[in-house]
Amino acid sequence: MGSDDDMTGDVVDNGVGSGAGGETGDGFEISAYDAGRTARRDEAVRAAVEQGLLGPGSPIVGLLDVTGIRESAAALRAAFDAVVAPGTRVLHAFAVKATPLVPVLRLLREEGIGAEVASPGELALARAAGLRPGMTVLDSPAKTPAELREALAMGIAVNADNPQELARIDGLVRSATSRSPLGIRVNPQVGGGSIEATSTATATSKFGVALRDEGAREWVVRAYQDRPWLTRLHAHTGSQGIPLSLMARGVAEAYALAEEINRRIGRRQIDTLDIGGGLPVNFTSDATTPTYAQYARLLSEAVPGLFDGRYGLVTEFGRSLLAKHGTVVARVEYAKSAGGRPVAVTHAGVQVATRTVYAPGSWPLRIAAYDDKGRPKEGPAVLQDVAGPACFSGDLLAEGCALPLLEQGDHVAAVDTGAYYFAHHYAYNSLARPGVYGFAPDDAGGIAFATVREPQSLDEIVAESGGAHAASLTTLPSPESQRRAPT
Ligand SMILES: *Cc1c(COP(=O)(O)O)cnc(C)c1O
Repeated sequence: MGSDDDMTGDVVDNGVGSGAGGETGDGFEISAYDAGRTARRDEAVRAAVEQGLLGPGSPIVGLLDVTGIRESAAALRAAFDAVVAPGTRVLHAFAVKATPLVPVLRLLREEGIGAEVASPGELALARAAGLRPGMTVLDSPAKTPAELREALAMGIAVNADNPQELARIDGLVRSATSRSPLGIRVNPQVGGGSIEATSTATATSKFGVALRDEGAREWVVRAYQDRPWLTRLHAHTGSQGIPLSLMARGVAEAYALAEEINRRIGRRQIDTLDIGGGLPVNFTSDATTPTYAQYARLLSEAVPGLFDGRYGLVTEFGRSLLAKHGTVVARVEYAKSAGGRPVAVTHAGVQVATRTVYAPGSWPLRIAAYDDKGRPKEGPAVLQDVAGPACFSGDLLAEGCALPLLEQGDHVAAVDTGAYYFAHHYAYNSLARPGVYGFAPDDAGGIAFATVREPQSLDEIVAESGGAHAASLTTLPSPESQRRAPT
């Protein structure tokens, strides 16, 4: 685990995307886009309280900024359109694991974004959202024979993780024709970032074929030589905490390998490079940095051949598309003090911010304070803890943060939680999954909400906890009944 202040890596500062707007405490510039998003968030929190989405009976909600999601999707498309040769095929496949919610996938589909899936569940979500097979990529490290068969039958792109998986695909390709574009995932082993758990290009990462291991590169080249239907190459160098320069190096390694393979085969067999996702998100301010435009430009400088039109491109961004557009808002149920430290006991904790609660050094969140009516809370900053509802003392959303003193009935918002947070419920204490609502400005100057996911009901919690099998364990043979049983 690295220090917190290198979360966003070595951001290239070329002033992209900064319009009007000011500076934040850490020197990141706030663009007009960023300021607009912050204003929409404040309006949405107030409207959620006014319209009763958030209240004593529903003390926690997840909110998604639909305008912001559309803006990010457009920024992603524009960033790559600006650097690729005209006519280049580009598929931006959203990493479904970042925000596995069907309406979000449908919204992104409408914005021209496909889906990267890594489990039967994620594939089912993509299908439920109406994504065509041609807009879907399957990447998981543990695909079963049945999953592979289904993916090839549907024509979904598949990246084989390892030699054993490739052998399974060999069998399927022999027995049936498939339209699936097929490739191999490699681990360029360029190193890790500041967060071990999200670094996928370390020497011992579990993903892909470890390219620098003895004999591995030759094995990959041979695999392509022997299989004319292998036309893609995939590398995803990591998520949050990977410096941009390291991401670019991972892409450069994959590009160099594709060039070598095509040269040795003597034709352009690899026609598409899948460069993964991983653009880091700035969790320390409302500034969007780094931007897609910065990353695309960095790639065009570091790996010029990548964009010259000879290769189609697939990207797999997750966190950077959604994080800044989600906010979890919770009521302060009680405001108390312990050992001289004020503690706001809220309804948002480990169940919606699991990584932050268990690894706060790697995953700190910013908290915004709102009053009982959902208006930004005013007042002198006081160091206080923001606690969650779960029954262990480490269930803290933020420790020692400086906010106007929170009172009973106020609200706290954990911002930048649109990816890998409230969509990733953790069922500790059987706490209910909160409802998730998308919002957008309406024609009358207010805020309109749409249900993305209903709050989980108590009946659902019981059903998911074996409610239909209440007596199952007591009806198994017991030592008592066996002793009495006739022989
Ligand atoms: C998680 C993952 C992504 C998305 O990573 P982000 O950091 O959310 O952009 C992309 N590709 C693969 C293979 C992944 O496992």
